[in-house]
Amino acid sequence: LRAQGAVFVRPNTTMDEAFEAKLSLSQRRRAAFAALRPLPPVTRDGRRITLMVNAGLRDDAAALDVTGADGIGLFRTEFQFLVSATLPQRERQQRLYRDILEAAGDRPVVFRTVDIGGDKALPYMRADDLAEENPAMGWRALRLALEREGLMKAQARALLEAAAGRTLNVMFPMVAEPWEYDAARQIFIDQRAWLASRSKKLPIAIRYGAMLEVPGLAETLDLILPHLDFLSIGTNDLTQFLFAADRAHPRLAERYDWLSPTVMRFLDRVTRQTQAAGVTIGVCGEMGGRPLEAMALLGLGIGRLSITPAGIGPVKAMIRSLDLGAL
Ligand code: PEP
Ligand code: MG
Repeated sequence: LRAQGAVFVRPNTTMDEAFEAKLSLSQRRRAAFAALRPLPPVTRDGRRITLMVNAGLRDDAAALDVTGADGIGLFRTEFQFLVSATLPQRERQQRLYRDILEAAGDRPVVFRTVDIGGDKALPYMRADDLAEENPAMGWRALRLALEREGLMKAQARALLEAAAGRTLNVMFPMVAEPWEYDAARQIFIDQRAWLASRSKKLPIAIRYGAMLEVPGLAETLDLILPHLDFLSIGTNDLTQFLFAADRAHPRLAERYDWLSPTVMRFLDRVTRQTQAAGVTIGVCGEMGGRPLEAMALLGLGIGRLSITPAGIGPVKAMIRSLDLGAL
């Protein structure tokens, strides 16, 4: 029994039958989800939801065709840094981004700039030998990238070059205050100008987004929204900071509920304010990959979810069975 981590050496007949039944149910379910692949995620009352996948490696692009997803809503660019023995140079980054864009074809890909540091420490890039007591709240993501400007510049150039002739969608992780977003976007604007001054081929458009995963950013949405093309809620980090509960701690994993009034009220407020400003809002955390939680997000008015590929079938089945107006 995989779910319980138990091995039964001599299962009795009842147990055998129960296991067979469970197995065949999960096979039937999987077949039913596979049959949904070519069908769009539309609610019963006609609302088309955008359902995308999260990815991080070159091979993950295959999930687009396997699941029939609308695009990649979160490409975690730090994976390439984490699996490399040395800092990936600009050319290598560019090759990966171009391969992903080519595999995606006309489906959008949202690249997140590196979320390294903290507990995703790189052996070849040390944080001045400073030990961190709370790495999740430490020198990571945009905080690190804005101080290691060479790193961010190289990544910006790699993304701009890879997306030449297309739309580049880029978003920044762990934005805590609007100036951090402004500074990160400025690096892209400067790199674009540099490429333009050398008559290089450029993206036809650049769409900039911020991840909302530090709760404090919600207090300055009015300041940041005018500069955003989209806001993507990272519910993994957001809930860990809302509840002050380590997302990786096994004792805490089941304790706080994504459907609790705390999360629902927070997301409701943010969604209303973002939509009133005419800015696209979506969720790219694990919350959106679970049918019940995804349904709650749709009920709040969020129409874009980027989730783990395994969640596409169950979430699409939920969407296609849903009367959104009634919800
Ligand atoms: C999140 O925090 O919800 C998120 C999508 O980013 P990551 O899981 O990579 O931290
Ligand atoms: Mg995160």
